[in-house]
Amino acid sequence: MGYTVRSRLIAAYLATGVVGLAGFLVVPDGSLMQVVWQVAVGFLGAAAVVVGIRRRRPDVSATWWLIAAGVAGNAAGIGVETILTRTMTDPGFPSWADAAYLSLYPFAAAGLTLLVRRRSPHRNRSTAVDATTLTTGIGLLAWIFMIQPAAADPSIGLLGHIVSVAYPVGDIVLLAMTVRLLLDGATRNVSFRLLCAALLCFLGGDSAWAVVNQMSWEPGPFAHKLLAAVFLAGYLTFGAAALHPDVRAVARPAPPRPARPSRRMLVLLTATSLIAPALLLAEALTHRVTDALAISIGCAALFLLVVTRMTQLLAQLDLQSQKVRELAVTDELTGLPNRRAWNAELPRALERARRDRTPLSVALVDLDHFKRFNDSYGHPAGDRLLKEASAAWQAHLRTVDHLARFGGEEFVVLLPDATAEQARMILDRMREATPLGQTFSAGIAVLRDGESSDEIVARADEALYAAKGAGRNQVALAGL
Ligand code: GH3
Ligand code: MG
Ligand code: MG
Repeated sequence: MGYTVRSRLIAAYLATGVVGLAGFLVVPDGSLMQVVWQVAVGFLGAAAVVVGIRRRRPDVSATWWLIAAGVAGNAAGIGVETILTRTMTDPGFPSWADAAYLSLYPFAAAGLTLLVRRRSPHRNRSTAVDATTLTTGIGLLAWIFMIQPAAADPSIGLLGHIVSVAYPVGDIVLLAMTVRLLLDGATRNVSFRLLCAALLCFLGGDSAWAVVNQMSWEPGPFAHKLLAAVFLAGYLTFGAAALHPDVRAVARPAPPRPARPSRRMLVLLTATSLIAPALLLAEALTHRVTDALAISIGCAALFLLVVTRMTQLLAQLDLQSQKVRELAVTDELTGLPNRRAWNAELPRALERARRDRTPLSVALVDLDHFKRFNDSYGHPAGDRLLKEASAAWQAHLRTVDHLARFGGEEFVVLLPDATAEQARMILDRMREATPLGQTFSAGIAVLRDGESSDEIVARADEALYAAKGAGRNQVALAGL
């Protein structure tokens, strides 16, 4: 877990915790001492959480107060149960001990909800769907092996049913939140890992009990003790999570990120989706199919979740390919259409001009002495000039005209329905609008009959060359 002992406080806590756990394993079974020991370890964990809140001042301290309350309540349950069994002949089920035990669930769930909200401020819907999928698969297992048997026990009355179902349901809720936290992409620092480890102690302990009950196997005293120790370890780990200095950053929001599931996540989702058919197969092979309803509902839910996720991914793919399409035809610096866009647009414009029998002019624009500008003011200033000039020129174009960046400090203007004179007027206005006292030279070519895109651009280029040769800062017209 990469846990480094950074302070005497943590060292002392760890030492006490180890003694607490080891001691629990050696105190005599069934003794009052054992119970006192267990409750003391639980309260030690809760107290450590409170000390952590005070010392480390974590964000969303409410999360940790709620956890402290849940841990203390759960540990108190052990004491209450003992008092009840020692003072009454039959405390029955459920009793006040169950209320104390169960208090962990609502407290922890409330605390974790606050944490989930703070860590995922971007309302990441894909993470929510993934977490729901994982929880649904495991929830189905829990339903068949934990919840349904608890609900079916005929000896416990209505309240008994409710309470015995509340345990596994509480576990599922905590599991769902743990999965959500693990997927949210926010920090997984030491404190966070300890928090998850503590939750997994409780979930693992409860699952182990469920398995034991399923197999109708009576665990020996040592197995009993080991299982109880898992819960004690959970108490202590909550305390360690809050005491570690990392606790300050546990609630730090995750950065926004792409919704693509990782390979590991895909494996996990696949395995989860196979839980329902696997259960069905297992029941079909071993005995009668007794959980057809639960399995089909689980299956349907999982399918719908997978389809939801697929829809999300497709929407994301659409968005991305649109972005890529836009990027492919846009010049990064100026935001103008680039040469690729120009190469696609020009033949279409020629086609239209021929069909409509309207004139069409093409102008090539090249900044004068731009190398000198770069050398004098620096490359970034040159970049700024390119940007500002593009914007300034654009303001003098008609809506039908197209300005594109050809490359470097060369631009190209498509002027549909513009004669040579009109084109020259527009280009002269642009030239005067060039910012920072800079100038450009331009060559204009008016479309000839049967001329190709390459040919008209080549003629505009020749005219530009002539304009440069004639002293720059002017517009030249290619011969017709
Ligand atoms: P002329 O008047 O003959 O056109 O001279 P010129 O200096 O403008 O032309 P030349 O082709 O010699 O230099 C062009 C310069 O443009 C050289 C290159 O470093 C600069 N340049 C090309 N692309 C960019 C760019 O994206 N940003 C900046 N800042 N400079 C660029
Ligand atoms: Mg040039
Ligand atoms: Mg130039």
